[in-house]
Amino acid sequence: MAEERMDRRRVLSAVPALAGLAGIGRLGPLWAQEEAGLDNLVEFQRLVAANRILANEGVVDAFGHVSVRHPDNAQRYVMSQSRSPELVEFDDLMEFEQTGEPVDARGRRGYSERMIHGAVYEARPDVNAVIHHHAYAVLPFGLTSTPLRPVVHNATVIGSHIPVWDIRDEFGDTNMLVRTMEMGRSLARTLEQNTCLLMAGHGAVVVGETVQLAVKAAVYLQVNARVLSEALRLGEPRQFTDGEIELSAAMENSPLGAERAWEYFCLRAGVEPI
Ligand SMILES: [Zn+2]
Repeated sequence: MAEERMDRRRVLSAVPALAGLAGIGRLGPLWAQEEAGLDNLVEFQRLVAANRILANEGVVDAFGHVSVRHPDNAQRYVMSQSRSPELVEFDDLMEFEQTGEPVDARGRRGYSERMIHGAVYEARPDVNAVIHHHAYAVLPFGLTSTPLRPVVHNATVIGSHIPVWDIRDEFGDTNMLVRTMEMGRSLARTLEQNTCLLMAGHGAVVVGETVQLAVKAAVYLQVNARVLSEALRLGEPRQFTDGEIELSAAMENSPLGAERAWEYFCLRAGVEPI
């Protein structure tokens, strides 16, 4: 036990150096505690990296956000304070109850649409990471009746069915923001067991078993939307069979496929792969 504790102390002491290398900010006082555990520190470092990656790949701009379910408390999640993802550092991370109340705000303000995250975690025990974004290439498919389906093999991770949720259907005239748990739960019901959901006139939600898989799906949702839009200009695109989607997605979501993409995205974003 004592030996294990010393080992952990030695590894933890190396983590701030890693954070420095990664350029993702110093460890915050909440998390640089021995009791936080190395696994959690890495998980939260990955969350900071995910913010940087999504910004670098153009999935998010000044707006959009990503969260992870708390590894030690399934009823809570962790995400940045209200800040553009490209600028997020470790100290920006906040812990929230599933219903959206901050655990220790310390004067910081959460994203107004964080209810999307809590409602999805509540409805989907299999989900440990949630991304909400307004990627421009994806938006046309939430505005028209043309379905967004995977048409290129790397993008089969987005799933065979992508439902569209229109806030107007249940809530009438709004400012389009998902600001209550009631709205979030409505969105989560439409998401069902799918990986991606489009929000009419607004953006998208992408979920994953891990933050790496959610990031990969969010990046390839955008890639697929671009390719499909181009293909639709040329003619009727080839459609995958359900079997092709299943087999290809299994390969793309395998540890090999996920790690290769994560390393690439991290280095492109100037973040040490962790
Ligand atoms: Zn939004």
